[in-house]
Amino acid sequence: MININTNIKFLKGVGEKKAGTLFRELEMETIEDLLFYFPYRYIDRSKFYKISEINGELPYIQFIGKIIRFQKEGEKNTQRLLAYVADDTGTMELIWFKGIKWITDKYKVGNSYIFFGKPNVFNHKINMAHPDIEEMNADKSKNFSGFQGIYTITETMKRKFIGLKVIQGLLLDVFKDGVRVDETLPDSMLLEYGLMPLGEALKQMHFPHSNELLLKARYRIKFEELFYIQLGLAKTMQIRKRFIGFAFEKVGQYFMDFYEKYRPFDFTNAQKRVIKEIRKDLGSAIQMNRLLQGDVGSGKTLVALMAMLLALDNGFQACLMAPTEILANQHFETIRDLLKQMNLNVRILTGSTKKKQRDIIHEELENGQLHILIGTHALIEDKVIFQNLGLVVIDEQHRFGVAQRAKLWKKNDTPPHILVMTATPIPRTLAMTLYGDLDVSVIDELPPGRKEIKTIHATDAARLRIFGFMREQIAIGRQIYVVYPLIKESEKFDYKDLEDGYNSITRAFPQPQFVTTIVHGKMKPVDKDRSMQLFVSGQANIMVATTVIEVGVNVPNASVMVIESAERFGLSQLHQLRGRVGRGSDQSFCILMTSNKLSRDSRLRMKTMVDSSDGFKIAEVDLKLRGPGDMEGTQQSGIPFRLKLANLAEDGDIIQLVRSIAMEIIDKDPDLLENENQILKNRLKNLKKSNFAWEVIS
Ligand code: ADP
Ligand code: MG
Repeated sequence: MININTNIKFLKGVGEKKAGTLFRELEMETIEDLLFYFPYRYIDRSKFYKISEINGELPYIQFIGKIIRFQKEGEKNTQRLLAYVADDTGTMELIWFKGIKWITDKYKVGNSYIFFGKPNVFNHKINMAHPDIEEMNADKSKNFSGFQGIYTITETMKRKFIGLKVIQGLLLDVFKDGVRVDETLPDSMLLEYGLMPLGEALKQMHFPHSNELLLKARYRIKFEELFYIQLGLAKTMQIRKRFIGFAFEKVGQYFMDFYEKYRPFDFTNAQKRVIKEIRKDLGSAIQMNRLLQGDVGSGKTLVALMAMLLALDNGFQACLMAPTEILANQHFETIRDLLKQMNLNVRILTGSTKKKQRDIIHEELENGQLHILIGTHALIEDKVIFQNLGLVVIDEQHRFGVAQRAKLWKKNDTPPHILVMTATPIPRTLAMTLYGDLDVSVIDELPPGRKEIKTIHATDAARLRIFGFMREQIAIGRQIYVVYPLIKESEKFDYKDLEDGYNSITRAFPQPQFVTTIVHGKMKPVDKDRSMQLFVSGQANIMVATTVIEVGVNVPNASVMVIESAERFGLSQLHQLRGRVGRGSDQSFCILMTSNKLSRDSRLRMKTMVDSSDGFKIAEVDLKLRGPGDMEGTQQSGIPFRLKLANLAEDGDIIQLVRSIAMEIIDKDPDLLENENQILKNRLKNLKKSNFAWEVIS
């Protein structure tokens, strides 16, 4: 029996040097790490392919062939080795770029071997690069009858002769000698959810006896990975719930007056539902931490306003924080307008607020005369002291860091309730993990009467027609956004693209007949604001911009969004950009310009945009295409744990299941004191030490 914590250098054939390589390449240090280094795919070793059956579409396969001859090609540094192998149905080419001498020394012309690898098509011929080779009379104990795992082998590992067979050999040895694997889930859970014990699951992961057992093993491992994340989140949430919050017990005059007399339109059912959810939280004397998700244009502002009115009804102040000055201004104007018939004091505080104005705000905040303060980061400065801040609304949360949010908490002895609004739709199951410590409300319905935005995918060939279309739209009084990508790595080129684009637009739309303005991140804030204002006020017909307009800007008269090099944007970002139009009552258009050579992914992204306007559906596709690490809105929080097997995009069902299990456990036993929960408590503690950091989530 080997101890699972044994260093791999003590395994037969490893030693210091190989162990060092494995550590640097894979962070593999102990037997446990080795056991959790899972194959990324399996080949069915019960079948041998005939050379005539092999095509480039096949995954990893094996076949038996005789080496006819070796042939070296190319000069020293680019040298490659070709081997021609044949069976009774045909010949095939094998190719190596490295380790040439080793291959020609070890394998002999005229002998037959078992080859396995991934067939490729090159120059209309099938070949296989760097195949693994096994002697026909190989040690029987190392011959696999069923499925065989294929592991990621890095280039460095290959150079140091740690190939597939070495990894497999190590694992075989470990299992042959026996290794004690402690169970990490309580027996009762294994029983209730039909989970394979960990030791068995690990064995099946590497050497599955059947496809069915492999699936059960995979399920068990994913279940555990996701379960412990949710258990940690449930615990964090539980601890938060112990924070006393202000109880907004009554629904008072402000709320009722606005609802009955001043609201400009009927609330959508989704808005009503979410307001109820918030009201319940606010009334409960437990600090609220709620994430409000709603597609662009779904009417989140109104919901936030109702929550703020509840705070005022209960004698508290409220504030709303936006990520940019422009957005803060827009919110301020919207809210001031909505409340104009009510006797409420609403003010705005941003970086450019003048000292005199600032002093008034500070004073009114402290003496309680100020009801609602709207602003940017300026709100969280230490100088800004509220008399009794009851509710903080944060718009477009992903622009705010965790630390900033924490600072708001400290504005009172009792932390204010927090409502975070985001228009970046995050698939439910991903939200459960990334924002798993926040309660989530979703506005899944747009206000009535919105016209669907017509989305068109076009290439350069259509450029003139599109200019013509833009002229028509301008002639009937509409405004147009033209957006260019800005990607950090190629900033220089991007700015050149933007400038070239701006020049070509001003040539096609000359002054004084047309006014075009430009906005990008390198401009001074004052210039940016001025350009933006030119467009917001309707003086400019066209705004050429980078993605700075992505968030929140509201110009109802803008009805056309042209996105240049659209293939360079992620799906969620395209959807966000498209959300800038379609805000008025006119028919709006989104034109996605791409080159006509597109990768499969890009094509799918364009098609998804053209076919769908549902932000959540789009986010699901985005998540599947890019994996959760790259999802917009998540970069800042990051994904603070590495998943070995589970996949946030694909394992939604398991996530939902383990979340409810975790919640139930923490509900019954918040501090995991019960005997049967000790195993959970210990495991959680160990995981926290190693790779978990729930504190940084959300
Ligand atoms: P977002 O969720 O993107 O922040 P907003 O709150 O800015 O959306 O609302 C978008 C637009 O829809 C605004 O012009 C707002 O006045 C309008 N709106 C919000 N709720 C309703 C409603 N229930 N009925 C009609 N229009 C609404
Ligand atoms: Mg908004």
